[in-house]
Amino acid sequence: MIHILPVADLSDYKEVLKKCRKGEPVYLTQEGRGRFVLMDIEDYDGSQAGKSRMETSFDPQLVDRYKSKSQIARVLTETWTEQHLYCPLCGWPSLSKFPNNREVADFYCPNCKSQFEQKSKNGPLGKKIAGGAYHSFIRRISENHNPDFFLMSYSLKSMRVEALYFIPKFFFVPEIVEERKPLSEHARRAGWVGCNILLSQIPVQGRIPIIENGVFLEKQGVLAQVKKAQEMRLENVAARSWLLDILQCVNQMEERDFTLDQMYAFENWLGARHPQNHNIRAKIRQQLQKLRDGGVLLFLGDGHYRKIFSPDEPENP
Ligand SMILES: [Zn+2]
Repeated sequence: MIHILPVADLSDYKEVLKKCRKGEPVYLTQEGRGRFVLMDIEDYDGSQAGKSRMETSFDPQLVDRYKSKSQIARVLTETWTEQHLYCPLCGWPSLSKFPNNREVADFYCPNCKSQFEQKSKNGPLGKKIAGGAYHSFIRRISENHNPDFFLMSYSLKSMRVEALYFIPKFFFVPEIVEERKPLSEHARRAGWVGCNILLSQIPVQGRIPIIENGVFLEKQGVLAQVKKAQEMRLENVAARSWLLDILQCVNQMEERDFTLDQMYAFENWLGARHPQNHNIRAKIRQQLQKLRDGGVLLFLGDGHYRKIFSPDEPENP
């Protein structure tokens, strides 16, 4: 049913909102003419206005006056994000940009206030991507001050975003940050130490695709996957390192069902990553329980486990 109401009815906005349901927009008139439409956010996403937002192409007119390749890339990618990307945490249809040259975040959600840092690369992302300064990056991770992340692969040839991943901030642990060699004494910033983010070491559950092959994936599915990943959230960075390492091991099991003995096969690898821990097996069991509580695993009893969350089948227990 379509509702047409005068704008003045908004003074009793609760009544107006009650009428606005999925598939039932409310048209608001001013002096007898239609002026505004109030609609359910899912209707908006499926509408023409929503579809032009779900556009992965860059606008070439933006960079007419630029010469430098890095500047062109920055303007194209940042403007695109501001105009076309939604908030993967609350679903809000747009993001806002912080002023340039802030050390930490690039964008924020005007609705839920989440902050995002964006790293982008011309061509496929590969195994690692350059981050910022090493020491401040590690410090922000340890103090839980790092923002959530967007990783973008774009193409200046096809002038569009090819792939975009959302990485929730708690998937960042020091183990995935690689220290680079200090810049040589001849460099402009001699002695500066940068870092690489090792993408291949982030568990798949924490690399949530929003765009693949130049196409937006279905939004509700993305939001569901993000919500699922949030359930694994841990504030303490040491606990997080353990949980993500165990998750990496679980992801390496080819079969959906596996046993505790199979997990114990990772004992040496885990021991090398956590040399201060002397009871790796107990830690494995403890972390498997956390993955169960986070909805990743089912305990089948008697040292048997079943994966119930993998990116390919997020909704299929
Ligand atoms: Zn939001």
